[in-house]
Amino acid sequence: MRIALFSDIHANLEALDAVLADAAAQGCDSHICLGDIVGYNADPVACIERVQALGCPVIKGNHDQDSGSDSSLEMMNSNAAEAIRWTREQLSPEQRTWLARLRLVRQIQDFTVVHSTLDQPTSWNYVTNKFDAMANFSYQVTSVCFYGHTHVPRVFVSDNRVHEVPAESIVIEAETKYFINTGAVGQPRDGDWRASYCIYDTDRKTVHFRRIEYDIQTAQAKIIAAGLPEFLAERLAQGR
Ligand code: ZN
Repeated sequence: MRIALFSDIHANLEALDAVLADAAAQGCDSHICLGDIVGYNADPVACIERVQALGCPVIKGNHDQDSGSDSSLEMMNSNAAEAIRWTREQLSPEQRTWLARLRLVRQIQDFTVVHSTLDQPTSWNYVTNKFDAMANFSYQVTSVCFYGHTHVPRVFVSDNRVHEVPAESIVIEAETKYFINTGAVGQPRDGDWRASYCIYDTDRKTVHFRRIEYDIQTAQAKIIAAGLPEFLAERLAQGR
């Protein structure tokens, strides 16, 4: 199987469609969505519909949880909170319920998927260094786990120690654990504006990172037209 794993779409339809087209061209026969379908950008309804149409496993991100509930947004930065309030108004009650009922962690075949981290998936902690990764690995029972949330493609490895390797093509070795961040489809934060996702070839035991150009001008224009904060359009071009 060639599985396309993608995270943090964040209502960026242009980026999502470019990723899905690339995944098809790359021969992917299934998909997995790692959460944060909505939030920040201007196409939450269409992005939910696209993901639902795939009929694939989906897990919950913090923006999905906040958009699907009436949770307090006091702890969130103001741009993110403004986008969540706007998103709540766009979604149907059915879509909000669907988001709210997504699961936090799933095991699929012989690997695991989670939005933030396995040690405390409801705390939405950010895994950005090997010490964060160690906490995750102590709860990871499968060789491979994919995650998102930081919007930065990363690969942490646990063999006789925990270390980080470049987020490039990797081969899954026996007796080794991998905690792999696919990067973000709809709002990358590693200085590269292009949409990021991974292809896991379960027969060859390889993971490839892909970066895909998309129609960023259209995505930015929709953010402005929706009355969302201009900063959310600017940051797409900066990859921040
Ligand atoms: Zn996110």
